[in-house]
Amino acid sequence: MQATLMIYNGTAAPDADVLRTGGVPLAPARTTWPMCGNTCGGPMQFFAHLPVDYGVLSVFVCQNDPGACDTHDPVSGANRVLLFPSAELVPVAVPEEGVTLLPAVSAITTAVVTLEPEEADEDGLPPDAYDLARGGWKWEPGELFGKQREVLGSLGGSPSCLGDDRLPECPSCSGVMEFAAHLEEGIDRRSAMNLGGDLGYVFVCRPCSQGAFLRD
Ligand SMILES: [Zn+2]
Ligand SMILES: [Zn+2]
Repeated sequence: MQATLMIYNGTAAPDADVLRTGGVPLAPARTTWPMCGNTCGGPMQFFAHLPVDYGVLSVFVCQNDPGACDTHDPVSGANRVLLFPSAELVPVAVPEEGVTLLPAVSAITTAVVTLEPEEADEDGLPPDAYDLARGGWKWEPGELFGKQREVLGSLGGSPSCLGDDRLPECPSCSGVMEFAAHLEEGIDRRSAMNLGGDLGYVFVCRPCSQGAFLRD
């Protein structure tokens, strides 16, 4: 069993085409900034730029009036995941009003963690690769915790502790979407994405080029 953790790796240029949280979104020319479809109608905040082998996932969540717009559900309109082809991306023009950018950019490196089967099996619960990998990140015997705050999420694999009833349907084909990434809040206040203490989940339907976000 493996998990591909996303690990905090200092900062990056705000328009770098690398795994990062914060900075500006990169998208095909003439892409407009996603607006909130829940209650505020303002521009959403850009959370993460996630290049994957089938394109680039771009994650937005409304933060104009935290708590006012419901960002939990994929159908709320207060969050958005866009899937773009990898080539010919340019920075999207940032709206002048609204809460649009995180104060700091966090570069992300990946680490593939291989879990021993016996590690994955305690308590008789179904093994949760992400939880085990995150909990064990840089954990040394005798320490209470590892360096979990360095873990900014993971790529691929299966969603951690998420009920089947929360798996999003693709808005185009109505199929069950493929899990793409977990997102954690971040390493400090400046770089943090406001997930309300939850874990963020990113889903994708590759054939339809659709994405979805939820938190739980
Ligand atoms: Zn909103
Ligand atoms: Zn679809």
